Amino acid sequence: MLIREQVALAPFTTLGVGGPARYFAETHSEAEVIEAVEFARSRQLPLFVLGGGSNLVIADKGFPGVVLKVAISGSSSCTPPRKNPLFIAGAGVNWDTLVAQTVDANCAGLECLSGIPGTVGGTPVQNVGAYGQEVSQTIREVRVLDLRSLQIEILSNAECSFTYRSSIFNTTERDRYIILQVSFALHQDGKPSVRYADLQKFFASSTGDPTLAEVRAAVCEIRYRKAMLIVPGDEDARSAGSFFKNPIVPQSFFEELSARVESRGLQLPSYPAGDGFRKLPAAWLVEQAGFSRGYSKGAAGISRRHALAIVNRGGATAADIIALKDEIQAGVLNEFGIELQPEPVLVGF
Ligand code: NAP
Repeated sequence: MLIREQVALAPFTTLGVGGPARYFAETHSEAEVIEAVEFARSRQLPLFVLGGGSNLVIADKGFPGVVLKVAISGSSSCTPPRKNPLFIAGAGVNWDTLVAQTVDANCAGLECLSGIPGTVGGTPVQNVGAYGQEVSQTIREVRVLDLRSLQIEILSNAECSFTYRSSIFNTTERDRYIILQVSFALHQDGKPSVRYADLQKFFASSTGDPTLAEVRAAVCEIRYRKAMLIVPGDEDARSAGSFFKNPIVPQSFFEELSARVESRGLQLPSYPAGDGFRKLPAAWLVEQAGFSRGYSKGAAGISRRHALAIVNRGGATAADIIALKDEIQAGVLNEFGIELQPEPVLVGF
């Protein structure tokens, strides 16, 4: 395996900012992953695991250790007797390529997750979800390298402790595992999920139920309109996706804020989020705090098509992105008393 030195990391991210990696190892097999880990350990260097780079902000000074890019490819499917079809994919497989394969095979369960940038291995980490589907609903097992024992293990869905945008991989066991492969149990000839208003609106004038392929195409179109589909040359898509998580607040806080907002002639949008909690759309909070789509601060800005995406308008530095993030967080805190949490992983800060 070739381990390169001083490799610029910005081109490996969708946001396109960040300095170099001291060492950069692109790993195509489980053996190479272990080799790269041993390389870092033998030099007592920190390790950072890179997938598709779609949810990352890398500091301008770069990363002073080993960046391990997981590029394990390969996907297959099988249908065990009397069981749901299983799709098994290497962590480095492009996520949307896998989704397309499942839809082509007329298997339901991932269709609403079409058009999401990144790799298969990144999806369990924050339990990626969209339009009412989450990977936790279909993940059967996650094959991992345990960095404590340097052994390969298989974690069941339950062992991953998935919750909203969360799992053991980004909470209790952060930095413990490298994800090598993921398997998904889908529903052969299942019905697509059309739960969210955006999708229902899309099909409002159609007759009959949409197919899985039609829902996949609709999700891609909706994402494209919001610049949440990576299209080369589309400046509004040079982002790390949604920059802030949708806050989940206690019901009492929601009621108090709702009343305050109503007194200004506005209605606070919200969705149920389990017993005693409400989920608020971060995009609404950002816009109402005065940060409209298209807002610019130097070479960083807010997408013209989605208030939640911070974009690199060309030549932005990580410092520019973080300065805009700080300004938005302070504005929303001041206006609504809510501290928005960034969704991307911040590396090297
Ligand atoms: P959106 O569809 O405008 O939704 C904004 C917020 O409203 C989200 O929190 C969403 O919940 C919630 N929401 C909308 N309709 C709902 C319903 N029928 N029931 C319950 N909650 C509802 O958001 P967007 O920014 O354009 O993003 C589109 C989808 O991609 C959303 O589902 C969003 O969460 C998802 N997304 C996921 C990630 C990620 O996994 N890291 C990143 C970016 C966007 P949910 O968050 O539960 O969907």
